[in-house]
Amino acid sequence: MIRKILIANRGEIAVRVIRACAEMDIRSVAIFSEADRFALHVKKADEAYGIGSDELAGYLNPHRIVNLAVETGCDAVHPGYGFLAENPELAAACAARGLIFIGPEADTIRLMGDKSEARRAMAAAGVPITPGSAGNLESLEAALAEAARIGYPVMLKATSGGGGRGIRRCDNPQELKQNYRRVISEAQKAFGRAEVFLEKYIPAPRHIEVQVLGDHYGNVVHLYERDCSIQRRNQKLIELAPSPQLTAEQRQQVGRLAVQAARAAHYRNAGTVEFLFSATGEFYFMEMNTRIQVEHTITEEITGLDIVKEQIRIADGQPLSFRQEDVQINGYAMQFRINAEDPKNDFLPSYGRITRYYAPGGPGVRIDTAIYTGYEIPPYYDSLCAKVIVRGRTWEELLARGRRVLGDIAIGGVRTTLPFYRKILEHPEFQSGRFDTGFLQEHPELLNYSLKQGHDEAALAVAAAIAAHVGL
Ligand code: ADP
Ligand code: ADP
Ligand code: MG
Repeated sequence: MIRKILIANRGEIAVRVIRACAEMDIRSVAIFSEADRFALHVKKADEAYGIGSDELAGYLNPHRIVNLAVETGCDAVHPGYGFLAENPELAAACAARGLIFIGPEADTIRLMGDKSEARRAMAAAGVPITPGSAGNLESLEAALAEAARIGYPVMLKATSGGGGRGIRRCDNPQELKQNYRRVISEAQKAFGRAEVFLEKYIPAPRHIEVQVLGDHYGNVVHLYERDCSIQRRNQKLIELAPSPQLTAEQRQQVGRLAVQAARAAHYRNAGTVEFLFSATGEFYFMEMNTRIQVEHTITEEITGLDIVKEQIRIADGQPLSFRQEDVQINGYAMQFRINAEDPKNDFLPSYGRITRYYAPGGPGVRIDTAIYTGYEIPPYYDSLCAKVIVRGRTWEELLARGRRVLGDIAIGGVRTTLPFYRKILEHPEFQSGRFDTGFLQEHPELLNYSLKQGHDEAALAVAAAIAAHVGL
């Protein structure tokens, strides 16, 4: 029985896991670097331990984390996302020390962490994959030959890539030549591995992914799909659930494909099967993320399930408490990733002190964040500073609520992507619910928002008034 969990992460996802623990009467243990001494996850956990002065090393050291979990009497480790979440070494180190890793087995993580291997396994299981190279490319010459066979444009991808990094579109042999070295060195730097492979570029694709859950007894269910087509440089910014672009039949189809993929991988715990959905209506397996995802929130909002609690129950050996037919979609949900970045300055990270933070309220709003007024965003980590999630009974209500909520919230002291999202919400193509992954690139005018006349001023004035009232 899991009674105490070490959370091997920081930021909003650490806070999210702490909340699940609190509801399940499980003790939570936080870890922190020197830079995170005043972070919210440290304040919110039942116990917190420093893991060294280095900003990253502690969060990235599986053996140190596992030792600490054993020393502090934990039964389990939750990896969150990023850091060691998709590193099979943490899962293996937990197993070796008799700790429960809240995620799939190390072998599953290893298989899915290699995009080429994952493609091979999925193709063998009858799940459609994008046309591409059979395995990793040995040389530039091999890449050029494969690209000629597949046909341009192609996507050159790092086998171990993630977070939108290590991916380049190549429209001709010239571009492939230019990108080949670049992607290899990017991959070596970011992921410590230099293998690359090729996929055919699917024109005007939609990113459709399916949340799955598998227990120890062979039960696998899906919690329907998310549409993450609103991206910049292959990174998700706004996510929707369910996708406004699928017919009921396509929804069932992609759900079945995801379950087929998860079964083939003997998948346990929560995972996400990512697909590309072509303009001609085909689904292609792209990759599987073997962890909780940033956008799991919107699936929780439309299904009423708590995915983090389900992860913990599954890891604890409990069978899934519901069947596929029990999972119902209720309305629509949308998540905005509020990044501390300046969209007008090529999305340059904007770190510093949060001078004012005013959280919106009212029906259908959820904020997952680790910021607070006075918090200083350190420059060493991801720039995600809040997730704003809205829910509506209908697509129209969702859009109206999104506008209202983004008008309500205020974050002062750093630049954020908030005003950019307000502008996107006004765009007829976005409102139509029909867009592909090229949407933001095709609409550079969305960056022409005004900060002066925005809602920011009014909302910040409200925040200031409230702060003055309570004597902050
Ligand atoms: P999601 O798939 O949940 O939408 P993202 O792609 O936005 O997540 O990644 C979430 C976090 O995890 C980011 O900080 C990202 O840099 C990190 N991340 C994702 N994949 C990897 C990977 N393969 N290696 C290292 N970090 C990763
Ligand atoms: P990551 O591991 O960084 O999440 P993915 O393989 O999931 O990388 O791809 C990230 C994004 O890149 C996708 O959501 C999609 O927008 C784009 N992409 C990836 N492969 C293709 C492809 N073959 N054709 C068109 N777009 C693609
Ligand atoms: Mg992906």
